[in-house]
Amino acid sequence: MHSKKKEIVEITVPTKAIRIKNATCVNGHSLMDKKVLINGNQAIAVLAKYGDEEGLIYLDPVYGSFENMWEITVPKGECVELFCPTCRVPLSEHGQLCDDCLAPLFAIYLPHGGMVEACLRNGCHFHKLQFTDSEEIGQKLLEEHYFDDMF
Ligand SMILES: [Zn+2]
Ligand SMILES: [Zn+2]
Repeated sequence: MHSKKKEIVEITVPTKAIRIKNATCVNGHSLMDKKVLINGNQAIAVLAKYGDEEGLIYLDPVYGSFENMWEITVPKGECVELFCPTCRVPLSEHGQLCDDCLAPLFAIYLPHGGMVEACLRNGCHFHKLQFTDSEEIGQKLLEEHYFDDMF
């Protein structure tokens, strides 16, 4: 976990302008699913738990789009727990709460110190994109890896 205080840069991006191509858990395991596509893009696969149920959720990799696919049934308004499918590290273990509904947030990590945080409550679309190093890196990241033909 990040213990040192770092400058955090929050970036506001146009909805659906970014497609996440490479997301990992905190331990560096890729969360990208090569088989499951959402609108033609590789989905982000995370392991979800709700009560006794456990299954994968395939997250829409287009930032700001929520055409996610769920293997388990979770009522709207309920919260899930998310884990890395490879090492089962909790994705929510960083103590951040949703600005909108106060549910815990989960985080997935992007190359070069980027991070996407989003709400664990089904139906809440709160999410944000952060870069923990510098704006320069953020810009580089956006140019190199993310902005593609979505514009
Ligand atoms: Zn992992
Ligand atoms: Zn929320």
